[in-house]
Amino acid sequence: MTNPSHAGSLLTVDLAAIVANWRLIAQGVAPAKVAAVVKADAYGLGAARVAPALAAAGCDTFVVATLDEGIALRTVLPEPVIFVLNGPLPGTEGEFLAHALIPVLNSLAQLTGWANFARAGSGAPAAALHIDTGMNRLGIDELELERLAGRPDVLARVRPVLALSHLACADERSHPMNAEQLARFTRLAGQLPAMPMSLAASGGCFLGRAFHFDMVRPGAALYGLNPTPDRPNPMAQVVRLQGKILQVRDVDSPRTVGYGATHRVTGPGRIATVAVGYADGWFRSLGNRGHAMLGGVKVPLVGRVSMDLACFDVSALPPEIAHPGALVDLIGAGQTVDDVAADAGTIGYEILTALGARHHRRWISGEDAA
Ligand SMILES: *Cc1c(COP(=O)(O)O)cnc(C)c1O
Repeated sequence: MTNPSHAGSLLTVDLAAIVANWRLIAQGVAPAKVAAVVKADAYGLGAARVAPALAAAGCDTFVVATLDEGIALRTVLPEPVIFVLNGPLPGTEGEFLAHALIPVLNSLAQLTGWANFARAGSGAPAAALHIDTGMNRLGIDELELERLAGRPDVLARVRPVLALSHLACADERSHPMNAEQLARFTRLAGQLPAMPMSLAASGGCFLGRAFHFDMVRPGAALYGLNPTPDRPNPMAQVVRLQGKILQVRDVDSPRTVGYGATHRVTGPGRIATVAVGYADGWFRSLGNRGHAMLGGVKVPLVGRVSMDLACFDVSALPPEIAHPGALVDLIGAGQTVDDVAADAGTIGYEILTALGARHHRRWISGEDAA
């Protein structure tokens, strides 16, 4: 943990906003239940803080990507159901059982492995079955399902508790893949014994009732990213990132700013150097493209982003506002994660999961600091 007075940047995560986002989705998809996806340390925001806040609000099902994420989450969440998306690597099945984690089985090989493991032990351990409907990434495909139909012994030895699939284009409402995957999921799941079904991640929650099935699995929307990019963001903002100004200097042409001398000063002005760089997840692609908010003014990032520093043109602001020690808003009300991602040429998911270890992190609920 960083020392707040030493740190050059402050990352504030609003747990109440995450809970509000979970509730908004729950209202929209009821009676389907809402599992919270907290993989990659809750998209970089701290699963050990985020997951208990959601559990306290009534969320009883969580989703992680890896076994180790599941083991870590189990230490803070004794009761809830935890699904592990990547499923068991050979030889790790016992660990799933020991920590009461439910593997998502992504291929016939993983399914057979789990069935063999089950035969060796007692009872049929719970598992989720991932059916591939068009991602071609993970999942049991149509051919494997046909082969499975000839192996009733395999399915008899596991206890399937969920059939799931994943949409490739859910953030584009009118993309034909959505309806195609929905139809394929319904058809292929129909070849399996009846069990609860789940198709929608964040985007799918907003595609209408047909996509909700028994359970939805949002991640990004819980953390404030816009699940409906062609419409205003219905989610509450969760993240605030502030960077500290280390120096403000007066400059005049013909000087340049930063590595590569990519920004040329064209007149008298002032440059503020802020203690955030690409090692903190402030992407190098924001060079000469990004912004910060200071005193209600959007100030442009000038020159290249370096490892620990970025420079902003604060000529428009008086020294009482743009001074050493002042905090600029890099992510917050005036500039969302999605805005920063657009400037950086990436998606909000990558901005969140890249947030660095040097930020001093605070988790608040509404106004009060935790
Ligand atoms: C990451 C992931 C999710 C959550 O996706 P978001 O777009 O963040 O809501 C849901 N299901 C699966 C299979 C995933 O890999």
